Amino acid sequence: MSQVTFVGAGPGDPELITLKGVKAIEAAEVIIYAGSLVNPEILRYAPVNAQIHNSASMTLEQVLQVIEAAVSQGHKVARVHTGDPSIYGAIQEQMDALKQKNITYTVIPGVSSFLAAAASLRREYTLPGVSQTIILTRKEGRTPVPERESLAELAKHGATMGIFLSVQDIDQVMAELSTGYPADTPVAVVYKASWPEEAIVRGSLADIAAKVASAGISKTALILVGGFLGNDYARSLLYHPGFSHEFRESSQ
Ligand code: SAH
Repeated sequence: MSQVTFVGAGPGDPELITLKGVKAIEAAEVIIYAGSLVNPEILRYAPVNAQIHNSASMTLEQVLQVIEAAVSQGHKVARVHTGDPSIYGAIQEQMDALKQKNITYTVIPGVSSFLAAAASLRREYTLPGVSQTIILTRKEGRTPVPERESLAELAKHGATMGIFLSVQDIDQVMAELSTGYPADTPVAVVYKASWPEEAIVRGSLADIAAKVASAGISKTALILVGGFLGNDYARSLLYHPGFSHEFRESSQ
């Protein structure tokens, strides 16, 4: 087992973490979790005497200090991130620093919030005849977004879009998207997918901002955009009786 395990904790529901993720937390003497978004319920898997740190109030340097101190005492560390750590997880800088310090690490993926949101919405992102592409993005905040990835630019594709970290600016997001998507394009905002307080607001490009404002949602939500939220789509060929593939002969 490596000295540090990065664990994707999933979107919130403590049962939406992988078995491997639970085992890594159970085996850790030191746990550092991203307390701004990780459900503290996840800590129910921690050993009673584990040392627990909330990284919400820590700098990268402080996180690394805690890891180094633990590793030097032969302790195992679980570094717990929300959803999947590869999406807006600031995990790369941690992995690169550990590599430099010759500290071994592994990464256990998690259920990203955009996947939990689709489950809550009971929708498929990749409907035949609607879109076969999912764009995951964000509006720029303190972290800049390259100009070629502006929302207006991405909207030109008309693809299914999942927008993180941006619900506080939903007016502006909709204004930028309207250069590419028609005004009646369906939009859903999912607040705290998989948490007990989950809420869903549905509307269109034209009216979702007002609905989200009156619902009082200003953080921890995803904006999902596209025809996948509508009812028109083509049937999939994968399960079509007239279509054969490697695992099934055509029955027509
Ligand atoms: N790594 C995380 C994303 C971290 S960025 C993941 O894979 O989900 C933080 C943003 O993710 C939030 O601003 C919000 O847009 C989204 N988010 C995280 N958890 C969420 C949840 N349970 N429901 C809705 N959005 C969520």
